[in-house]
Amino acid sequence: MSNRNNIFFFYHPRIEGKNIEHLKSLAEQNDLHVVTEPENASIIVSVGGDGTFLQAVRQTGFRQDFIYTGIANDGQVGLYCDFSVERFDEMIEAIKNKKIEVRRFPAIKARVDGEKAFYCLNEVSLRSSIIKTIVINVNIDGEHFETFRGDGMIVSTPTGSTAYSKSVQGAVMDPLLSGFQVSEVASLNNNSYRTLGSSFILSKDRKLRLEVIQDGNDYPIISLDNEAWPVQRIHHVDIEMDETVVKTVKMKNNTFWNRVQRTFL
Ligand code: NAP
Ligand code: MN
Repeated sequence: MSNRNNIFFFYHPRIEGKNIEHLKSLAEQNDLHVVTEPENASIIVSVGGDGTFLQAVRQTGFRQDFIYTGIANDGQVGLYCDFSVERFDEMIEAIKNKKIEVRRFPAIKARVDGEKAFYCLNEVSLRSSIIKTIVINVNIDGEHFETFRGDGMIVSTPTGSTAYSKSVQGAVMDPLLSGFQVSEVASLNNNSYRTLGSSFILSKDRKLRLEVIQDGNDYPIISLDNEAWPVQRIHHVDIEMDETVVKTVKMKNNTFWNRVQRTFL
């Protein structure tokens, strides 16, 4: 049974040891109960980097009744990591005094070929898996918008906008906005293929379909955050947003823009 004070630590087995034991005993000393199964927790603490946080959320199923929080391990910094191992006591203090404010990060929902939907906190990306370019029809709300030819496309959430999307000159998007950003990876632009050329942001009420043209190169690599879609041949990916969010602990002086500044400037 899940209890308000039940806490689950998620980390790569490689880092098991001193730091983890320290965090667990600190939690226990402060009337938090460390559980061994995430289902029994109400607070999930990921220890590691942003990649670990993405996995913590994904592997526990984007639970709407959980609070997720990231602790950077050994001097790492991260957009999803609000605390460091050394400053974990601040978080415990906040939980104990019920001073937590909750922040909500929007997720996107992706469905490949009409199968089960998967949520993503960073992005969905489609990339050619061979040397040849891939051709993708981009449809917005059921209407054809453009035909892309190039290396691939990235559809990112607001918090994912500082990750892969940023590497292709996407804008950094405030997570208080709910919408998702579509970016190109190396588009061909010539007299046969013309794309917008810049990233664009869709409202959360839009429905996006990326349809892979069946011309022989219809085996793209699809990523859902840091996981690969296992099926090779695909026709289309539908992307939309519902009310699903990832709730995290919000601390003073640690807004999204503080973290963007800390990470990039
Ligand atoms: P990784 O290859 O270790 O991640 C690449 C870098 O992106 C790491 O430094 C990671 O931080 C950082 N990162 C992840 N999410 C971020 C976010 N929302 N804002 C800012 N930085 C972020 O793989 P990973 O750790 O499993 O992370 C998966 C993510 O990597 C994907 O979701 C994608 O966004 C990103 N990625 C980027 C590129 C690119 O920029 N060319 C290519 C592929 C994937 P940590 O070291 O703290 O994990
Ligand atoms: Mn990583």
